[in-house]
Amino acid sequence: MKDYIILDFDSTFIKIESLDELIITFIRDRDSLIKIQNLTKMGMNGEISFQKSLIERIKFLNINKNDLDIVIDVLNQNITDSFQKNKKFIQQNNEKIFIVSGGFFELIYPIVSKFGIKKKNIFANKFIYDKNDKIVGFDKNNPLSKNNGKVKIIKSLNLDGNVIVIGDGYTDYEIKKYGYANKFYLFIENIKRKKILDKGDFLLKSLDDFINNYNHE
Ligand SMILES: [Mg+2]
Repeated sequence: MKDYIILDFDSTFIKIESLDELIITFIRDRDSLIKIQNLTKMGMNGEISFQKSLIERIKFLNINKNDLDIVIDVLNQNITDSFQKNKKFIQQNNEKIFIVSGGFFELIYPIVSKFGIKKKNIFANKFIYDKNDKIVGFDKNNPLSKNNGKVKIIKSLNLDGNVIVIGDGYTDYEIKKYGYANKFYLFIENIKRKKILDKGDFLLKSLDDFINNYNHE
């Protein structure tokens, strides 16, 4: 049976959260940062929808497409150690690897393309620009901008085979919860979220744990 490996991006492929990094880079005043932190929290607690939290946070950004390069540099320096180490494995398995993220394509593609991951295998949010390339919002019809987005994406892909999800968060676990993955590997190299520790079929301390297992199956 064919395998599909679904990888999360933030705190999995990279050590940090890309949207947080984008906001920290460009928003310097304390009041705005506190408001943004609250919006993130409210989104996570379910007090407001994920999309609402995204809309409100993006409003604070006053940047152009080119400004993203600064953040891409930082993300490049924060690739998870075991991913960097196992670049070859990712390159050799690039056809079966998908990146599914609530983050932004523009920040993800420059990082993962160096590992041989193709555009068609990346599912993420996308910014909307005005005629001067200023970021004015994001595509609100993209399922990944809404709750349960990852589940909807995997469902729509109709993958015929063994679906393995690797991620650090609840939205990654949900793919398996709703029946669209055979296995959920909870990735704890960067962050260990206590609330979902019992949700993983396996705990991965690094990508090595996965690869060692995978090669012996
Ligand atoms: Mg994550």
